[in-house]
Amino acid sequence: MSLPVQMASVAQAKRTAENGVDFSPRHGARCPWCGRRTRIYATRPWDGPVRVRYHYCQTPSCPMASMRVTIKSVQVDR
Ligand SMILES: [Zn+2]
Repeated sequence: MSLPVQMASVAQAKRTAENGVDFSPRHGARCPWCGRRTRIYATRPWDGPVRVRYHYCQTPSCPMASMRVTIKSVQVDR
């Protein structure tokens, strides 16, 4: 029942999740689809000024959660 526009948005959110979202020490990483805080399942060591984490969305109604999309986050020590 999804409209093509909505499908494109889901694909776009998936792409954003793959490319990486910003990580905030205070707020964590937010889901590119629903905007809720995501749960960390893997944290990489610092690589220079950059640290990468992997997350899952936990919002039951969110397609990022139902498709088990891995959300990458990037923290930069500025
Ligand atoms: Zn979500």
